[in-house]
Order: sequence, then structure tokens, then C-alpha cells
Amino acid sequence: MLALGCHLSSSGGYLAMGRQALEIGATTFAFFTRNPRGGSARPHDPDDMHALANLMAEHGFGTLVAHAPYTMNLCSAKEDVRDFGIRSMRDDLERLEDLPGSYYNFHPGSHVGQGIDAGIELICQALDDILVEGQATTVLLETMAGKGSEVGSSFEELACIIEGTRYGDILGVCLDTCHVNDAGYDIAGALDGVLAEFDRIVGLDHLKALHLNDSMNPLGARKDRHARLGEGTLGLPAFEAIVRHEALSKLPMVLETPNDLEGYAKEISLLRDAAGDA
Ligand code: FE
Ligand code: FE
Ligand code: ZN
Repeated sequence: MLALGCHLSSSGGYLAMGRQALEIGATTFAFFTRNPRGGSARPHDPDDMHALANLMAEHGFGTLVAHAPYTMNLCSAKEDVRDFGIRSMRDDLERLEDLPGSYYNFHPGSHVGQGIDAGIELICQALDDILVEGQATTVLLETMAGKGSEVGSSFEELACIIEGTRYGDILGVCLDTCHVNDAGYDIAGALDGVLAEFDRIVGLDHLKALHLNDSMNPLGARKDRHARLGEGTLGLPAFEAIVRHEALSKLPMVLETPNDLEGYAKEISLLRDAAGDA
């Protein structure tokens, strides 16, 4: 069975997200570890996390993909912004020790005019500061669309970050289908070619999770506007090919399409049908 789900609101806590996932046929999900545009977090509640872990084990969930707040920028030109990102990620990862084996996905950052190389160096320094040998969470760099001065819109940049830290073995990549399309990788028209390129530059063993989003914009637009599956430039066949692909079908897949829960339930069941899930 696919580990398939969507982004859920964390406002009711962890167990509530697990129950909501079950209601819509999901077997994984994503959530913001803290206010995505602010950065404040709910009080830490290990019991709630353990309750979710039990529910997930009972129902055969795949790996969760927690999402860092958007306000985090590990390569900001401002030291206080970088420090905020470092403190937030450290705190998030400490909390996630109570949900061991999870993924934690973050946007590498925006170099805001300092240049890609300087941005990558700051991100590597921050990760060396934050990550701890033997931690229970794998940290995932999200592939970015390349709008503004975003770092991580090319596989080469992602590889540089992974190779530039002491912790390449606890770093992976979360591939966002809308973002890679907008960055110029023809994921809809040439899936195998894009995966071969990823394998050559980053290594497919580092590919740990997928964000499934159609895109409102054409290949290479560097925009980042998500569309519902089949309502964008990628089209439904692209997603049917992804869920059937042997290199991808074992990875957790998270929808971040503009939908309510009912819409997510429909996309989940459509993808399960395409994959031949029972
Ligand atoms: Fe994201
Ligand atoms: Fe995403
Ligand atoms: Zn996006």
C-alpha cells in the first residue's frame, strides 16, 4: 500500500491528525511543527505523540513528513534570522525524538543577494550546528521552484549541501513535483530522465519523500503555485506514473494541493486506484 496522505492542520494535536488521516484514507501526513508564518510552537506533549505512534503502528502508516515553518531561513543575510532558524529547527528535532523515525522537511533558504555559494555555505554551517549524530529524525531538503533567490532549485545545489555538511547520512531530499517542474525539470514529460539525473547528481538513496502537487505554471517558470492533481500543467497521467514507479512507490507521498479534506480524500483514492492499492 502506498504511504499516501496530505498536509493536515496540527491545531488539534498529534493523535487528532492521525485520526483525521484515517478518515480520509491517508497512511501518512505532513504538518507544520510550529506556526508556519510566525514560529511559535504548541507546548510539547510527548504523550500525544506516543498516542499517535501507537495509532500509526496499528494502522500500518508510513513515515511522517513534518514541515518546518516558512519563516526559517538558514542562509539569511541577517544573523538574528539565521539564529532563529537554528533555534527553531533544534527545538523541532528535540521534540520529534518522541516520534522516532520521522522525516523533517525544510526549505533550504533564500540567499537574498549573497549568491548561491554563500547561501549554501551558511546552510551547511547551520546544519552542522543543529544536527546530532544518532538523532532519530532524518532531515529532508525540499526541492525548490527557484523563485527569488531560493537555494535548492537544482539537484547540484542540493548535492552541495548534503556533501558540505558532516551529516550527509541523516540528510535526504523531499521532491516536490510542482517545484521541480517550475525549476525546469520535466517530471511530467520525462520522469525516468529526471530520476536518472537525480541519481547521478544526488543519489536516489537520498530521495526520501515526495510532495505531490500539480503546477499552475509551465516548465521552468520558477513560480511555485500549486494546483489540484489534473488541474495544472503536469496533468493526471504524471501522477499515475509516479505512484506506479518502482523507485518511488515505497516513499511517503504528501499532497499539498489547494483542497479541503474532502478534496484530499478524492485525490488519495484516485491515486490508490492508479497504483492498484487494495
Ligand atoms: Fe514546502
Ligand atoms: Fe512542498
Ligand atoms: Zn510550493
